Parts: sequence; structure tokens; C-alpha cells
Amino acid sequence: MRASIVANSPDLTLDIILYGTVVLGLFGFLWIYHGRRDRQFFELERRKITFHCIRCDHLYTEKPGVEIAPCNRCGHQNARLKF
Ligand SMILES: [Zn+2]
Repeated sequence: MRASIVANSPDLTLDIILYGTVVLGLFGFLWIYHGRRDRQFFELERRKITFHCIRCDHLYTEKPGVEIAPCNRCGHQNARLKF
């Protein structure tokens, strides 16, 4: 009895598992990559600082790190809102 035919089957199974792992890994990588990119974009949006003008009641946003920003409607200098 030759072992070649019997040994053929585990090899094929290993190939399928290997292929499946590569495909799953690729999808997993893409999912994590896109997920991280979306989160970074979301973080940047969320971190925008909201300003409220006490003179004209206008709401506007500025980049993070800005403490005082002029109102883009009337030019009044407003301090950032603290939540
Ligand atoms: Zn204003």
C-alpha cells in the first residue's frame, strides 16, 4: 500500500487552511486599516473645539490647540467652551 494517495489529502487540507488564513488575514488587515483610518478621521472631527460668540450668539469650530479665536461673523474674541 502506497502512502502517496493518503498523504495527498492532508496536503490539500493544509493548502485550503493556508489559503483561508491568507484571505482572512488580508480581509482582517483591510478591516483594521480602514477602521483605524476612519477612527483617526472621526477623532480629528471630534477634537475640533467649539466656540460660542458671546456677542452675536454664533457657534463656530476651530482646530485643536486654539484657546481664543475670533468670531467669523462679528470678529469678537471668544475663549473656548469648556464642557
Ligand atoms: Zn460673533
